[in-house]
Amino acid sequence: MSSQLLLTFLVSVITPLFNLAQTSPSQLCPTPVLSRLQHHQVVSGESLSSIAQNYNLIPETLVRLNPNLKRKPVRVGQKVLIPPFNGIRVEVPDGATWSDLATAYGIRADVLFEINGCVKTPTVVYIPGVTWQIREKTRQNDYMGLKKYPLSSVAKVGLTYGWHRNPTTRQSFFHGGIDLLAQVGTSVLSADTGKVIFAAQEGTYGFLVVVDHGDGRQTRYAHLNRFQVKIGQTVQGGDVVGHVGKTGQPDLLESHLHFEIRYKFPVGWVAQDPVIHLPEL
Ligand SMILES: [Zn+2]
Repeated sequence: MSSQLLLTFLVSVITPLFNLAQTSPSQLCPTPVLSRLQHHQVVSGESLSSIAQNYNLIPETLVRLNPNLKRKPVRVGQKVLIPPFNGIRVEVPDGATWSDLATAYGIRADVLFEINGCVKTPTVVYIPGVTWQIREKTRQNDYMGLKKYPLSSVAKVGLTYGWHRNPTTRQSFFHGGIDLLAQVGTSVLSADTGKVIFAAQEGTYGFLVVVDHGDGRQTRYAHLNRFQVKIGQTVQGGDVVGHVGKTGQPDLLESHLHFEIRYKFPVGWVAQDPVIHLPEL
């Protein structure tokens, strides 16, 4: 299967990362998140949740960064570390690479690399977003994930989400979705209720449909051979949005649906592993 990986997608994803690595970090990299922490001094009447709310964060982010807040209420005069956005501070296990971290937390390696100062070997890093919450939530009843599978029956995964190595070039590339093997012409279904915000040709994606589900969550359906929806249309989970095709530059030669789920983070839209969110059929 690996021999069928196409190079073009690889180049488009990995090139910006290498360009970044070759340029001096001070020129391109924002100051690392962990060097941008603010100190908040608690005043009378404040609580953990009011402080979190003031900085547009969730209380869990503050507790993770300030373990002394875990069980005790905040005290007047106490200093609380405030990160610029939700996430967690992680001490990197010996030898772990950016791609190991990307796999572990479902955040793209190039995003992690950039917001942590573009260092080659990470030691202590900030992992943005709420991925860890989503993973925890999938085990609870209050988060149901996506309502529908994007095809009418469960398909074999031809290429998983995450890092893959091209056997010919030996270069790693990031696959932001999963490739679900299906015949050309198979109906592609919206994975949840939402609004079609894109239905057109888009570079390597080919014919692409993007459905916005609100709350900073979108799904993408790529390499279609035709559309069944128009931009602006509201869809329910299970509605046909298009049909499987081979447009754009798919990562596999076998016909498949390239399916992505993306969450909006302060750093931009980040693709997560769809497997976490798909319903078990
Ligand atoms: Zn793909």
